[in-house]
Amino acid sequence: MLNKAALKRVCTFSRTKPEPMSAVSLLMVEDDANVAGTLAQRLRDQGFTVTHAASVAAARQSLLAGTFDLALLDVGLPDGDGFEVARALREHSPATALVFLTARSEPQERIAGLELGADDYIAKPFVFRELLLRLQNCLRRAQALRQSLPEAGQPVRIGRAEVDFARFLATVDGQAHSLTHKECTVLRLLLERSGTAVSRDDILDRAWSEDEFPTSRTVDNFIMRLRRLIEIDPVNPRTIRSIRGVGYLLEANHD
Ligand code: CA
Repeated sequence: MLNKAALKRVCTFSRTKPEPMSAVSLLMVEDDANVAGTLAQRLRDQGFTVTHAASVAAARQSLLAGTFDLALLDVGLPDGDGFEVARALREHSPATALVFLTARSEPQERIAGLELGADDYIAKPFVFRELLLRLQNCLRRAQALRQSLPEAGQPVRIGRAEVDFARFLATVDGQAHSLTHKECTVLRLLLERSGTAVSRDDILDRAWSEDEFPTSRTVDNFIMRLRRLIEIDPVNPRTIRSIRGVGYLLEANHD
């Protein structure tokens, strides 16, 4: 049993110094054999279980074969780019923390990565210790997010509404409004990634089929309707925020 002072020392310690990560499964997508070899070994030394893929195709195979707590993605790959892997990952496993590790660190590349819901974007060359600390931060955030997601059938507060996904209902001021499947899908997507920006394309991909001919404007109108339901003041939204040039963000503290 730790007393308060000892506990505080442990907590301070864990914030400042990398601690061994036990049983964290990590997918590393990297085509440079030298970088991959060294990095994989150092991460394994820290207790990570590392699966290495050297191409988009190999990464897709790994995604079908297992689930991962964390994905560390290079951008430039022989048969495509890390963004493709990120999209596949977001589709199959939205709870996986996503970090880009790349020599391409132009602002537009970083924005593209963040649009895909990346938790961090680390430029090469990197210092291993910093990489490790950042990965640990991402894992903590991902874990906190998973814990904040509603249990099946348990209503969750979003803005002024109590949303019951199982029953497709949003209750506002004691009055129940039925939600469409699409409204539930979009709210769920924003909730899964709360605290990070979700692009209009991702929203369209998740909730619309191609034969509905949606446009970015479709998403904006749709979000406007959702805001009327859940925001206290839909004109000055505080729960679903607009991120200029990207899309929308559900505040992590969404009540
Ligand atoms: Ca590369």
